[in-house]
Amino acid sequence: MEKDYLYNSLHIPNNIKINNEIICGKEKTIIAGPCTFASYEEAYSIAKELKKLGIKFFRAGAYKGRTNPYSFQGLQDEGIEILLKIKKELDLCIVTELLTINQAKKYAKDIDIIQVGSRNMYNYELLKELGKTNKPILLKRGFTATYKEWLLASEYILKEGNYNVILCERGIRGFNSDETRNILDIQAIPYIKKNSKLPIIVDPSHASGKDYIVESMSKASLIAGADGLIIEVHTNPSQSLCDSEQTINIETLKDVLKFKERIDKYEN
Ligand code: PEP
Ligand code: MN
Repeated sequence: MEKDYLYNSLHIPNNIKINNEIICGKEKTIIAGPCTFASYEEAYSIAKELKKLGIKFFRAGAYKGRTNPYSFQGLQDEGIEILLKIKKELDLCIVTELLTINQAKKYAKDIDIIQVGSRNMYNYELLKELGKTNKPILLKRGFTATYKEWLLASEYILKEGNYNVILCERGIRGFNSDETRNILDIQAIPYIKKNSKLPIIVDPSHASGKDYIVESMSKASLIAGADGLIIEVHTNPSQSLCDSEQTINIETLKDVLKFKERIDKYEN
């Protein structure tokens, strides 16, 4: 073990808990929801369907760091307020991305799992700020980041005293740009398991960019040992404002959940 991975090589004593519920523990954790949303009604109607399926972690982007500055940037502050309302109404944990230190200062206390996006994995000042909170941080792998860079990014959070870090493999850039969005690096799962004590989940949506690939990559990730999945789901994927091509419907999510239950049973 290299000395650089100081905290990754330590046994992190506690499981990550939210309201006394262990995440990424013995049972695999499923985080699901739309890429982003345009209104309270849209987000609520999806969250309600997910809740019916037993989903406890609702993902939805309020601040979107889009590649194109003219694309929808999310409902921003209003979006966070909507998510917090839904959290209360449906008793769901909210998973959402914060892009800046100011946003972290304002909202970290209210959000259950703070997502650091692929583009921000190298934003060390943001990572340090999040390290000062005690909130679970979902650290997405930069799309050109090596394992070493990714683990060192997690060290920035751990070093500040926040051990609640969940790593997320979300696909790396290859040479397929239209056919599939990225390449799911499934080897990351056993590599991280061997070289870190942190949990790792997989985002098959941004990895593949295609709805019809998401189910098989979800299953493959769980078999390879991932502690969970974060999946883009919409009740009406074609109406999703962002990433509709990679967004699965509720029926497909049901199939993924069935598979997850089988794996949980097999492993425990
Ligand atoms: C997302 O999950 O909404 C997202 C933008 O993902 P990534 O940062 O991995 O591109
Ligand atoms: Mn998306």
